[in-house]
Amino acid sequence: MIALIIHGGAWNIPDILLEGHRAGVARALEIGWNILSSGGSAVDAVEHAVKSMEDDGTFDAGRGSHLNANGDVELDASIMDGTTFRCGAVGAVHRIKNPISLSRKIMDDSEHILLVGEGAERFAHEHGVQLCNPAELRCSREIDLWNSIRMKEDFQTKQPFQNQPSDTVGAVALDRTGKICVGTSTGGTLNKHPGRVGDSPLIGCGTFADSAVGGISTTGWGEGMIKVVMAKTVIDLMEMNGGDPRSAAEKGIEHLKRKVDGHGGVIVLNTRGQFGISYNTPRMARAYRSSAMDAPVVQI
Ligand code: ASP
Repeated sequence: MIALIIHGGAWNIPDILLEGHRAGVARALEIGWNILSSGGSAVDAVEHAVKSMEDDGTFDAGRGSHLNANGDVELDASIMDGTTFRCGAVGAVHRIKNPISLSRKIMDDSEHILLVGEGAERFAHEHGVQLCNPAELRCSREIDLWNSIRMKEDFQTKQPFQNQPSDTVGAVALDRTGKICVGTSTGGTLNKHPGRVGDSPLIGCGTFADSAVGGISTTGWGEGMIKVVMAKTVIDLMEMNGGDPRSAAEKGIEHLKRKVDGHGGVIVLNTRGQFGISYNTPRMARAYRSSAMDAPVVQI
């Protein structure tokens, strides 16, 4: 059994952006699926699927991410191997084109898990990852959006979150060896305070994988996800319910809403290659496929 599920953010995605989101998650699924179906590892599938969405320009990840209150792109990402429990993550980096690949380097080549800011960029340089010019990550769509909201005195990064762009990306894969890997990457919330780090690079909040139970990637209001330790909570729910990803995903979102009035979405995969998807925003972009299915599914 092999399986892969991708998300491209949960919010009130406007009609005009639907096609870009659909195409971006479909492409990421295809890239990851080709790796898995030719015998590749869940880690490679996740890294390359997420990387394609960081490069896409459509999503709040890598190039084209939201700008922070200084008008800069500041990126967070993480990856976790559910068999070894090794993980790598970066927070608040400005000069990294593919934070998911740097997260993987930290997972593979370092004793640490989470590196932030300048230290993460120094690690990248020391390990042969080329630093980019921060201007390359900024796009005119996001500059215009930022200019339109930053003068609004009542603008908050949280509410009403359903209407705030939230295009974080994530992938959860199961390979032939039974390994489950998860990756998540984001530019965080629009107009966030410089230095703000969300749930996406935090293991147990935005990302969690345990090859004996399943994997999850989250998207939505990061502060809420952190408060309820969302990713680990959903995996615990799934472990307790006998491995049903659908019910775990639904209960997780109910819990997020009830406890902290949170908004967002989750993609969940179990050891049998079954999926769970839940969100309490109007839309969530996702795509999935397993060896039990004839064709991929792409939905918003
Ligand atoms: N969870 C991300 C964050 O708060 C935002 C998102 O999912 O779009 O950084």
